[in-house]
Amino acid sequence: MKKLVFMACLMAGGTVACAQVATKRSAPRAAAPYAKTIKAADLKKHLYIIAADDMEGRETGKPGQYKAAQYITEQFKRAGLQPGAGNGEWEQPFSLYQDTLVNATITAAGKTFEFGKDFYTGLRDAKNLELQQTGVVFAGYGNVSETFNSYEGIDATDKVVVLAETPRQGAGEQKDKLRAAAAKGARTVFIVSSNMPGITRAGSRLRRTGLYFGDMATTMEFIPNVYFISPDVASAIFGKPYASLAEGLKPDNPVPSATGQITGLTCRKDVVEIKSSNVLGILPGTDKKDEYVFVTAHYDHIGIINGEVYNGADDDGSGTVAVIAMAEAFMKAKKAGKGPRRSIVFMTVSGEEKGLLGSRYYTDHPVYPLANTVADLNIDMIGRIDADHAKDSNYVYIIGDNKLSSELRPVSEAANTLVGLKLDYRYNDPNDPNRFYYRSDHYMFAQHKIPIIFYFNGVHPDYHGPHDTPDKISYPMLEKRARLVFYTTWEVANREGRLKVDRNEK
Ligand SMILES: [Zn+2]
Repeated sequence: MKKLVFMACLMAGGTVACAQVATKRSAPRAAAPYAKTIKAADLKKHLYIIAADDMEGRETGKPGQYKAAQYITEQFKRAGLQPGAGNGEWEQPFSLYQDTLVNATITAAGKTFEFGKDFYTGLRDAKNLELQQTGVVFAGYGNVSETFNSYEGIDATDKVVVLAETPRQGAGEQKDKLRAAAAKGARTVFIVSSNMPGITRAGSRLRRTGLYFGDMATTMEFIPNVYFISPDVASAIFGKPYASLAEGLKPDNPVPSATGQITGLTCRKDVVEIKSSNVLGILPGTDKKDEYVFVTAHYDHIGIINGEVYNGADDDGSGTVAVIAMAEAFMKAKKAGKGPRRSIVFMTVSGEEKGLLGSRYYTDHPVYPLANTVADLNIDMIGRIDADHAKDSNYVYIIGDNKLSSELRPVSEAANTLVGLKLDYRYNDPNDPNRFYYRSDHYMFAQHKIPIIFYFNGVHPDYHGPHDTPDKISYPMLEKRARLVFYTTWEVANREGRLKVDRNEK
């Protein structure tokens, strides 16, 4: 599961006691002989391979991830699935990009200012730039409206424009100001920021972007770069204390006149392309084969950090091997003449830990029409026991089942009568600060109004740590939880009507 970077500062909500309305529905008993072929020993065998040290933590774009993709492909083939990525392929390839700063400096008044200490720029939006002797003008808050123009009497053509930081400025407002500066002919814009010490704490994270798709719109295409500079840099540029310029500045007062110089500005970055893939196998349905049920998990993890392999046995080796075992079980049913009515797509994605990128790529470039995709049952971490269930480990968290369809929970609960887990719904509370519903791949499907369930065991001390290893997995629980997903998939794939989409909950 993806790490929550910015934790919402909300009160931890109390657990929601969900009254389980007993909707009597027939459990998918015909599935039982095949569900029972999902066995702890087989899950263990696969997981000791997927989470072995030689998979190197399966980081997106690294050799370990490619090796894991190969292993999953082999298992899908061996089970008897058909290639599911289109054109007879097992893998849906995609490219990601990552930018690394090579060098950035500003020089003025004989001083060289450092990136990450005196100034910074958002690297993904930044373009390579090289300026020598360049004039600088101060344009206050940079407001341009029908009644007021910060640029009154200022010639910004081919200059660097320095703007004061607006208190509590919204992103949209900032864009308008940058557009206005570009329209006045500015080469680039410096915004004086009072937050440089805060920025500095981000350290090396300023010098390398996350992975991103090439077709993600950059937000700043209308101006070369925007730099945030400290008041000290502004003082050096204008040859007087910046405080004296900013003092008494109001959005609609005349801007105090100030001109200055930089002697140099350099910004250079390297962009590398990173190749990755989702692995898809399909079991075509019978009379409803043009409708698709997805079973998903992410096979990537976070790689090697400081020489240590982060094996990701639970996250999400457990989901990956459950998907493999389900493919095997459904193929056994198919060979016995009990194949599903709807097609089942078994998809393991990569890029999850980098921001749900593989699932986003799939839903942006679907192989099967999203309009005919009836559900995504997503498994992300089902092999461990969290602290809240130390005494009674017979549980799984069910997340998102009631958000889009009123029919999915009854299906899931009927399936569970054959398994007997305690279904814990506490994380369905929209006020829960963990926001798990938004943190794994199912959410990309939910955004397209496709009903989903996210199966999850909760976090534990080894979560995203180097000791999330296969020896710590509870294989009996992994087996039980995988069987629950299997029974639920069976019913969703075989029931007469496709799941209704009749709700829209956050
Ligand atoms: Zn994770």
